Amino acid sequence: MGKRANPMAIKAALTYEINEAAAALGKSPATIRNWIKDGLPVMASRKPYLLSGADIREYLRAKHKDAKSSLAADELYCLSCRAGRKPIGMVVQAFPNTPKTTRLMGVCDCCNANAARMISKSKVDDFAQTFEIKASGHSDA
Ligand SMILES: [Zn+2]
Repeated sequence: MGKRANPMAIKAALTYEINEAAAALGKSPATIRNWIKDGLPVMASRKPYLLSGADIREYLRAKHKDAKSSLAADELYCLSCRAGRKPIGMVVQAFPNTPKTTRLMGVCDCCNANAARMISKSKVDDFAQTFEIKASGHSDA
């Protein structure tokens, strides 16, 4: 493992192409692509992919956190609690992220903030045993 990328090197209000994010963080574009496979959200309606600075920051923070504690099978990650939380009613919405990953979003049962979890698309059926997964409406926004 190399040095940790510093989330503060990224401006939350900007969007980045993969090469730009890599340059800002002192990482290789391949590393950024690995993060995307790992669940870093992209604006998938566009090619080349654009990354939101805010998403990169949250991803890096969650990644650092994940090194210490991983989520239980029935938890999403609440950015507000900074911990794994169950979604209210165990209801989540599934949003396509990359071709291989899906973002599950629910409402934290502790603080009512949005909680999310990035999963591999191949695991959606597994998570459907635990959560009530509602498909998101299609959005081109
Ligand atoms: Zn919470």
